[in-house]
Amino acid sequence: MKVIDHIKKANGTLISFEVLPPLKGKGIEALYKHLDPLMEYKPSFINVTYHRSEHVFKKRADGSFEKVIVRKRPGTESICAAIMNKYNVDTVPHLICGGFSVNETEDALINLRYLGIDNVLVLRGDAAKNETAFEPEPDGHRYASDMIKQVVDLNAGIYLEDDLKGTQKTEFCIGVAGYPEKHFEAPNMATDLNYLKAKVDGGADYIITQMFFDNAKYYSFVKSCREIGIEVPIIPGLKPVYSKKQLTVLPKTFHIDLPTDFSNEILKCKTDLEVEKVGEEWLLHQSKDLKKNGVPVLHYYTLGRPMMVANVVNQL
Ligand SMILES: Cc1cc2nc3c(=O)[nH]c(=O)nc-3n(C[C@H](O)[C@H](O)[C@H](O)COP(=O)(O)OP(=O)(O)OC[C@H]3O[C@@H](n4cnc5c(N)ncnc54)[C@H](O)[C@@H]3O)c2cc1C
Repeated sequence: MKVIDHIKKANGTLISFEVLPPLKGKGIEALYKHLDPLMEYKPSFINVTYHRSEHVFKKRADGSFEKVIVRKRPGTESICAAIMNKYNVDTVPHLICGGFSVNETEDALINLRYLGIDNVLVLRGDAAKNETAFEPEPDGHRYASDMIKQVVDLNAGIYLEDDLKGTQKTEFCIGVAGYPEKHFEAPNMATDLNYLKAKVDGGADYIITQMFFDNAKYYSFVKSCREIGIEVPIIPGLKPVYSKKQLTVLPKTFHIDLPTDFSNEILKCKTDLEVEKVGEEWLLHQSKDLKKNGVPVLHYYTLGRPMMVANVVNQL
């Protein structure tokens, strides 16, 4: 079922989770172990992230270096199918522009269609680790909005080869990313919001936000979106904090702030176990407030800490 239909049918706030494919070489069992305790809370859908290939330099025996391409977490589409099959839950694969030609994107969408997956989160992706700025493939999409057009075309039965006859229409429900604290490359919030509106006007059915730790930022973002005519559901993305290290890693990686009250509490902790407690309380406080304010879905980035998320959801 489509994410948008889950939201339309719901009587209250829904729950959803986001997971990463396993590291290459690891089995899928660890992922099931991660998801098992969460399934009790009946998520409406589960997102699976996409991880592009990276260039790395490997040292040869003679001391010289060799440039090789590695993909640390392959398998997004098949992980989605496996989760759907095991838990009978809808899945949302993330699909990125980076590293994909338009033909490869079409093939990926066709695969998803065959697997019975009718949701996709359309993203641009970040710059590859060896690039200073995002560069699309020569025949790939530059922005998420470009890929949205391709998905919308497929939903109308329009494939890249325009001489195909009697084509089947896909039925993808399209999600996109939104940034309550602005996308880091956007010159200002107004510009970023206008591009977000272009994604929605282009066919996105809903928005999932980047993580935030201050609900006021989410409310202000939703208000600004509504003011410029973005009417689709805006799903808050929430992440548990469990280590002091995250105080610097999260802002650096995701270009977000942690509120002073929260960071002060974390700084007082003597162990990461204490940080977990503070992080769990904060996540619970955020979740309860968002639920009280009628958000459509609470979307949890469960990454590495399923029990923290399970404890929070259990108390809602
Ligand atoms: C919920 C969520 C899930 C994510 N999952 C993944 C994942 O699985 N894998 C992964 O690699 N990354 C993921 N990301 C990260 C995401 O790929 C990056 O944040 C990326 O830098 C931007 O992606 P986007 O889809 O928001 O890009 P876009 O919407 O294309 O925007 C990128 C930048 O360009 C600007 N812009 C947009 N359209 C135009 C235009 N037409 N002309 C000029 N400027 C424009 C925007 O303002 C923004 O600054 C996720 C992010 C979120 C919030």
